[in-house]
Amino acid sequence: MILYTVTGKPGSEGYLDIAKSGDLTGKNIYVNMTNRCPCSCVFCLRHTKEQCESNTLWLKEGEPSVEAVLAEFEKYDLSVIGEVVFCGFGEPTERLYDVCAVIDSLKKTYPDLKVRINTVGLANRIYEEDVTKEFEGRFDTVSISLNAPTAEEFYELTRSRYGIESYEAIKDFAVKVKRYVPNVVMSVVDEVMPPEKIEICRQICEQLGVTLRVRPFERY
Ligand code: SF4
Repeated sequence: MILYTVTGKPGSEGYLDIAKSGDLTGKNIYVNMTNRCPCSCVFCLRHTKEQCESNTLWLKEGEPSVEAVLAEFEKYDLSVIGEVVFCGFGEPTERLYDVCAVIDSLKKTYPDLKVRINTVGLANRIYEEDVTKEFEGRFDTVSISLNAPTAEEFYELTRSRYGIESYEAIKDFAVKVKRYVPNVVMSVVDEVMPPEKIEICRQICEQLGVTLRVRPFERY
């Protein structure tokens, strides 16, 4: 499933193929372009092959090309929707340049299209350089999973391939991408995190100059 909408109450969302989503007026369209990710979060559903393959967001045919994603979009009128959200069952910045190509093409037809990316915030590590300028003019919102109030907890939870330094890397990414994107948000998951830790995360976000969003469990 490449394009989908989210249904249900926060915390108990289901993912509905866009073809079965009916009237798209005001709805967000989610884009699932990769199942790759530099992390292996303890709460991620990608731990076994079976869990992956039973998930509707598992890209059974492999990653769709930019052309294939655009061909899906062409079937719908994007002038009526809320936002396009690059999210999916993996880390979208693993394909940052393809994501940018999709956005550039969509914006030719819909220059005012609202675009968000939900990311783990490790793009600068993935590409081993500062790629935040690529976000300029393409994304209205970048939402980064902060996940934890300390580097140790972040690493324990995400098991990032970049190790304990990943926490500093995502904070640095947030500050850098803020130069190019009007709305940068860091998120933590409600209930999973006690209020005192959420408060620490709030202070971290304040220092970074970004907004903290406390979101219900379930990312996809
Ligand atoms: S960042 Fe998302 S996709 Fe990657 S391992 Fe964590 S929960 Fe799974």
